[in-house]
Amino acid sequence: MSLMKCFDCAWAEEVVDAVGVCHHCGVGVCLRHCHVALEPGHRLAGVGQSTLARPARELTCLTCHFAMAPVQQAEAKRSVH
Ligand SMILES: [Zn+2]
Ligand SMILES: [Zn+2]
Repeated sequence: MSLMKCFDCAWAEEVVDAVGVCHHCGVGVCLRHCHVALEPGHRLAGVGQSTLARPARELTCLTCHFAMAPVQQAEAKRSVH
């Protein structure tokens, strides 16, 4: 079983072991190129369902993270930069 390599590092011609896989597009990502979001367990929110209200970890690559970010946020980041 071969270890997956970070896709974004591969673009830069670096070989870095991936620490995870993007939840959305399935590429391997290293620590520098991943974004971890803690999604509140709101999908099953309801009275008496507190045991299911644990946050779920969602790992995405930076490309998917920024692709899903609201446009206003991206614009704000650009102007700050
Ligand atoms: Zn990387
Ligand atoms: Zn992705």
